[in-house]
Amino acid sequence: MVIFERRADMRLQKMKAGRSINLALSDRGIKALEEVGIMDEIRKIAIPMHGRQMHNLDGKEVYQAYGKEGQFINSVSRGELNCRLMDLAEAHDVTIFFEHKCDQIDWNKKRIMFEDSANGSSLVHHFDLLFGSDGSYSAARLSHQLQHARFQYQQYYIDFGYKELHIPAGENGAFRIEKNALHIWPRGNYMMIALPNTDGSFTCTLFFPFDGDPSFASLDTKEKVQQFFETTFADVVPLMPSLAEDFFNNPTASLVTVKCFPWIREDIFALIGDAAHAIVPFFGQGMNCGFEDCAVLNELMEKYEDQWDQILPAYQALRKPDGDAIADLALNNFIEMRDKVADPIFLLQKKIEAHFSNKYPEKWTPAYSLVTFSKNVRYSEALSRGLYQQGIMDEIMALPDIEQQWNSTEIENKILEKISNKPF
Ligand SMILES: Cc1cc2nc3c(=O)[nH]c(=O)nc-3n(C[C@H](O)[C@H](O)[C@H](O)COP(=O)(O)OP(=O)(O)OC[C@H]3O[C@@H](n4cnc5c(N)ncnc54)[C@H](O)[C@@H]3O)c2cc1C
Repeated sequence: MVIFERRADMRLQKMKAGRSINLALSDRGIKALEEVGIMDEIRKIAIPMHGRQMHNLDGKEVYQAYGKEGQFINSVSRGELNCRLMDLAEAHDVTIFFEHKCDQIDWNKKRIMFEDSANGSSLVHHFDLLFGSDGSYSAARLSHQLQHARFQYQQYYIDFGYKELHIPAGENGAFRIEKNALHIWPRGNYMMIALPNTDGSFTCTLFFPFDGDPSFASLDTKEKVQQFFETTFADVVPLMPSLAEDFFNNPTASLVTVKCFPWIREDIFALIGDAAHAIVPFFGQGMNCGFEDCAVLNELMEKYEDQWDQILPAYQALRKPDGDAIADLALNNFIEMRDKVADPIFLLQKKIEAHFSNKYPEKWTPAYSLVTFSKNVRYSEALSRGLYQQGIMDEIMALPDIEQQWNSTEIENKILEKISNKPF
């Protein structure tokens, strides 16, 4: 088996000191990594995050656990994870060709044309079975699309981009804000988040409008950036000594959702990961979803004993609805993270749901937990359950005096009654 990768081998390159980009790894990704025997290795570089630490405008901090006792997500360095995955692949006789940029695919002759990224020369490789795993702007997907009569393609950019910023470690690698939490500075129309790195630093990501005021366009001088942060993210500014330099040195990137169909071509090709379903990062699920694609393929390979004419259609039938569902869930979560987590009514609703779910776990698992802490509930089911629960909670939150009687037996009975009147 071979992998073709556009970039050079990152294991041979020195990472920029003090700059790590991290991702939240949760149960679905963990399940897939456990199945290929690498999770013990990854755990060594993972930092558990048990909840959200909200930093309000007035400087107050509010902590909200993600799930029940013992449930957490993990901050993992993207670079380290990639390196370990490549080591593992090579240990299993996979050959990786670096600096091979896929240009085009000839489906009839089963040939892939590459450009050698190092010297621009052309290379051709033959394939029997091909997986297009080349990300949101997949060249494999484009070749599939351009040679397909009725390819469905939907691409949607949000009006927000993101920029990575940095909180360095304190003395002796000390964490300068709570280590075991995902930090959020929700500010209504925009937000900043921060995830911990093993060296004590934090990678911050500012999700911010491209245009308008304030926006990436309006913050066009170092002075404006400094002043804006001092007013809007006052508690963290003293921890970001290179803020203004980072703001102008680091790129502003866009956020795209891609839905497409079909994901497969006869028994010779399938799209996986972001190439099949690019989503916005607000549920922390893009990578987890890609790993889940692999776990599903693995199961189907066992079930159909390597009969690819059965495996690929079954993979597409199972995963396409789930890819669409997590794309919608991720877009909805943007509004929740940037806006609602600072809203007392929303926080009260979450408190009622957690209270009820603790008491009746078999009747109610919050949608966030179904997505993040579940290894076998499909994303499409998590989406429909979430909509069903929201319908019930809309009625509960409209009750008079809900603030006073949120944990009363009366409210509990009302939820039970609504569940039995409208079973899922
Ligand atoms: C700001 C941000 C934060 C995120 N946070 C999280 C998170 O917390 N949790 C989570 O689960 N997900 C997160 N994601 C999503 C996650 O990064 C992606 O879902 C995941 O990286 C997709 O993996 P992939 O292998 O499908 O694609 P990619 O990671 O994009 O990898 C594609 C690979 O293909 C190579 N390639 C591209 N084009 C070609 C070509 N023409 N020829 C050859 N090779 C090529 C690239 O070099 C790359 O190595 C985040 C995304 C963003 C943007």
